[in-house]
Amino acid sequence: MARGSMGAGSRRGRGRGTAGREESALNGLEVELDQLLEEHREGMVVRTGLRCRHGLYPVLACSWSDTDVGRRFLACSQVEEPCDFKYWIDQKFDGRAKRVIEELVFMNQSLTELYVHSARQWDELFVSRQKARETICELSETIREQRSCIVILLCFTAVIAGGLWLVL
Ligand SMILES: [Zn+2]
Repeated sequence: MARGSMGAGSRRGRGRGTAGREESALNGLEVELDQLLEEHREGMVVRTGLRCRHGLYPVLACSWSDTDVGRRFLACSQVEEPCDFKYWIDQKFDGRAKRVIEELVFMNQSLTELYVHSARQWDELFVSRQKARETICELSETIREQRSCIVILLCFTAVIAGGLWLVL
């Protein structure tokens, strides 16, 4: 869709008669928009002549879906019940740019999946390590107890042997 699909951004009918005045107004609006976009970031309210169906100033947004990734647009500022106002700031990508964006989106999804998978593996490794440590602690405790038993048994045997030697 071409820039300015709705509202004051529409370019249809420009170039003749009163359209000339409309065009200069649009150019003025675009200059104003460009200045604001330089200063504003995503989510910021853009105070130009454009208003959504609620009559509110729109907010700057950026598309993150499919081939529209990276395209900026103005949208309704209402979070709970937004209207359908949408004013595209950037042209739709086509040709080589579109293919590159599709590949980048695919790569981004692959990297996200890889990250999630790695994070899950890391969590599992961490749990295994904790269990191994607990097992080592239990084994150490068991060895310590058995060593004490052996010492007691040796002492007991020595006492019995000494007693027997005295009797004989
Ligand atoms: Zn709205």
